[in-house]
Amino acid sequence: MSEVVIDQVHKSFGAVEVLKGVSLSVAPGEVTALIGRSGSGKSTLLRCINGLEQFQSGAIRVAGHDVTPDRAALRKLRTDVGIVFQSYNLFPHLNVAENIMLAPRRVKGVDKATARKKAEEVLALVGLSEKIEAYPDQLSGGQQQRVAIARSLAMQPKVMLFDEVTSALDPELTGEVLAVMEKLARDGMTMLLVTHEMGFARRVANTTVFMHQGRIHEAGPSRDLFENPKTPEMRQFLKADV
Ligand code: ADP
Ligand code: MG
Repeated sequence: MSEVVIDQVHKSFGAVEVLKGVSLSVAPGEVTALIGRSGSGKSTLLRCINGLEQFQSGAIRVAGHDVTPDRAALRKLRTDVGIVFQSYNLFPHLNVAENIMLAPRRVKGVDKATARKKAEEVLALVGLSEKIEAYPDQLSGGQQQRVAIARSLAMQPKVMLFDEVTSALDPELTGEVLAVMEKLARDGMTMLLVTHEMGFARRVANTTVFMHQGRIHEAGPSRDLFENPKTPEMRQFLKADV
């Protein structure tokens, strides 16, 4: 049983079809990297998975939930599927602990002491225990992104989606965020991530999927794909190394 199953998904914005029949699945504990040029549909696909975008046809099942536009169903789905974006969007007026405790308290109704304990646990996981009382503007971009990941983990998701989470960071801060993601992967989290970090995709992702013009153009075990790209488009993409 796969944790994520995407079956023939078509998605248009107005007259423009941006996902042209995408199918892929991710087994529990596996990591899949989505790569491809800007505009190829990677973000749209991730957003469809946790219901941030609706799609016209096809089906998506994730962490035991069918993705439908139904609001109550979406709320449930989102407690099991975390998503982290390039922009971390922490609440500036809340400290790190409060940022992390917010969703477990509000969405899951977890009591304060339990939420605090969970916040301490996820902060330890991302290596930021000492920042629990800090405010976002006292943290580096890399630290803020690690807090954003911790905030997502506090909901105890079964699947994590990452959309270019290091793209806004200075190169010297990228490594610390990738290290957190690699640790999550090692700990068995099911992950689907969009990345420009080809070395990371090759090393950490079990499977890499190359998207091109709204379709999966090439996919396979990461090592094979990077060592032996079969299509000219993928070879071109790797050469350009965005
Ligand atoms: P990627 O993440 O691979 O760069 P996106 O999924 O963001 O690609 O975009 C795929 C295509 O969909 C692009 O042509 C983009 O312009 C278009 N698109 C994305 N979001 C919207 C939107 N909200 N409205 C209209 N077009 C969109
Ligand atoms: Mg994108």
